[in-house]
Amino acid sequence: MFDIASLRELLAQPQKIVITTHHKPDGDAMGSSLGLYNYLIQLGHHATVIAPTDYPEFLSWMPGNGSVMIYTEQQAAAAELIANAALIFCLDFNALGRINEMGELVGKSQAKKVMIDHHLDPEDFDDYRFWNINACATAQLIYQFIVEELNGKQYINADVATCLYTGIMTDSGSFRFPNTTSAVHRTVADLIDAGAINWRIHELVYSNSSEERLRFLGHCLSEKLEVLPEFNTALITVTKAEIEQYHVITGDTEGIVNYALSITGIRLAAFIVERNDKVKLSLRSKGDFPANEICKKYFNGGGHRNAAGGASDDTLEQVINQFKTILPEYKTLLIQ
Ligand code: 5GP
Ligand code: MN
Repeated sequence: MFDIASLRELLAQPQKIVITTHHKPDGDAMGSSLGLYNYLIQLGHHATVIAPTDYPEFLSWMPGNGSVMIYTEQQAAAAELIANAALIFCLDFNALGRINEMGELVGKSQAKKVMIDHHLDPEDFDDYRFWNINACATAQLIYQFIVEELNGKQYINADVATCLYTGIMTDSGSFRFPNTTSAVHRTVADLIDAGAINWRIHELVYSNSSEERLRFLGHCLSEKLEVLPEFNTALITVTKAEIEQYHVITGDTEGIVNYALSITGIRLAAFIVERNDKVKLSLRSKGDFPANEICKKYFNGGGHRNAAGGASDDTLEQVINQFKTILPEYKTLLIQ
């Protein structure tokens, strides 16, 4: 049995540690990974964050960012670290498929695997689990894990605090989603006391768009938004040609779906984009409408009730039609 006592014992000596997170990392994925990294290096561990893929510029400024390894760019070196690690922390995901080809390497590694996550339906690949579906962010769980499980409050320095603040801020929609409890605000207050500069982090994440991104957003809103009032649904769809035309890069599409959801009365919003090899869907919903159910049932994905995603190998047109065909099944939930 590998329990918290075994984990504490292992962490009492410097170890080779890999921290990884889901592909196309978001603010919580990078914030929780680098938050944990900045804690572990203070204890003398040899820790490396390996991201399965690249991530946006507006997340590339956190303390420790320079040491992050991107699997797709350094496969051999990353594979060696994974194979030789004593511990692998799996953060903000709970199924090995979410880390692409790295999943097989992590699965094969002799390392003890620690899952820290807040998504539904965890797969059984871990040795130790710190998991809570009600947590607003994995970064909130990392804070709790360090402070409560490892008695490490004194190691929450400005670097750790900055990363964890970023994770909580991004995953809670800037402290506005329903799981932003008073306990979350207390954690955030602790993080500010520890040196996280809240206004600066907001600026670095949210006021850091390229002109091209803003023009692309304008195009999506003026030309590509479709509202289906009979289903209280709005969707924005983007072709590969538009992605090229507007020089859209990683992260540029982040958050666009929320504009569709912001229309009064809209309960379900979709952003459907044609990528190189597949069509990717991002769904957002208000209230108790289960966006994750649609993603799981029809688009090989999943997520949270109000924020979910999936993908398809069909053409963009087929996916848009399929999405619209599904809506009558959910009509009673959508128009209540
Ligand atoms: P996004 O729309 O920002 O890509 O993803 C929103 C949420 O949906 C993510 O936080 C994640 O929980 C979930 N999600 C997105 N894509 C997938 C996917 O392909 N598979 C699964 N299981 N979840 C996804
Ligand atoms: Mn998260």
